[in-house]
Amino acid sequence: MSILECKNIKKVYQTKNLTTEALRDVNFSVEKGEFISIMGESGAGKTTLLNILATLDSPSSGVLLLNGRNMGSLKKEEVSAFRRRELGFVFQDFNLLDQFNNRDNIFLPLVLSEEKESLMQERLAKMQGILGIEELLEKYPYEVSGGQKQRIAIARAMITTPSLLLADEPTGALDSASSEMILQLFHKIHAEGQTILMVTHSLRAASYADRVLFIKDGVVFHEIYRGNEEGQR
Ligand code: ADP
Ligand code: ADP
Repeated sequence: MSILECKNIKKVYQTKNLTTEALRDVNFSVEKGEFISIMGESGAGKTTLLNILATLDSPSSGVLLLNGRNMGSLKKEEVSAFRRRELGFVFQDFNLLDQFNNRDNIFLPLVLSEEKESLMQERLAKMQGILGIEELLEKYPYEVSGGQKQRIAIARAMITTPSLLLADEPTGALDSASSEMILQLFHKIHAEGQTILMVTHSLRAASYADRVLFIKDGVVFHEIYRGNEEGQR
C-alpha cells in the first residue's frame, strides 16, 4: 500500500501584485518501508511541498492521500488527529524544549495524546539501543551536542510509531561527522521498517535514500534509484 500519494498537486501563492506557482504539478507515491529523499535548490518548492505533505498547509488543487485517506476530505480536527497519530517530524534545528530533560522531550508527543507512562517506557526501551541515547536521557538539550540533540529529536519523532517520518534538512545544522552519524541512523531505522521522507539540498544526505526525487520550479523533473550494492559506504 502507498503510505503517501500526491496527485496533480499545485500550490499558488497570491500576494497583492504577484502570483507565484510554487508547485505546478507534483505526482509521486511513497510505498510502505521506502526511504525517499526530495532534493532541490533554494526556491524549488521543497518547503511548500513538505508543508503540504505534513498536512500543515493545503494544496491549491490536487489530492494528497496518506495511508489511502484523502486529506482534503477530512475535517480540520480529523487532519490534526491524523497528523499526531501517523506523522513524525524531524527538523534542521531540532526543536527540543530546553526546560525539559531529554527523556521528557521524547515523551512529550505521548503525554499530549494522554498515553500511559508504561507505554512510553516500553517504546523508549525498544528504541534507545538503536539510537544510542541511554546516557543522554537525564541530561537537558543544552547539555548535549548537535548530533546528540538530533538523536533525541529522532526518538521523539518515533515514539508515536508514525507510519511516515518526515525530515526537513535533518543534517543542515550539523558538522560532517555528526551528519554522517545521523544519516547512518536513518539508514538503521529504515532497515527496521520505518518509512522516511527526507528533504535536503545535500546530495551526500540524499544518497542514503532508496530513491531521490529532484524538484525544480515546482515540478519533479528527475528521479533516481539507488542500486542494491552497499559498496559506497
Ligand atoms: P524551497 O523550500 O525549495 O526553497 P519554497 O517552497 O520555500 O522553496 O518556495 C517556492 C517558491 O514559492 C519560491 O518562489 C518562493 O518565493 C515562493 N513562496 C514560498 N512561500 C511563499 C509565501 N508564503 N508567499 C508567497 N510566495 C511564497
Ligand atoms: P556528536 O558526534 O554526537 O555530535 P560531538 O563529537 O559533537 O558528538 O561531541 C562529543 C562530546 O562533546 C559529547 O559527548 C557531548 O556531550 C559534548 N558536547 C559537544 N557539544 C556540546 C555542547 N554544545 N554542550 C555540551 N556538551 C557538548
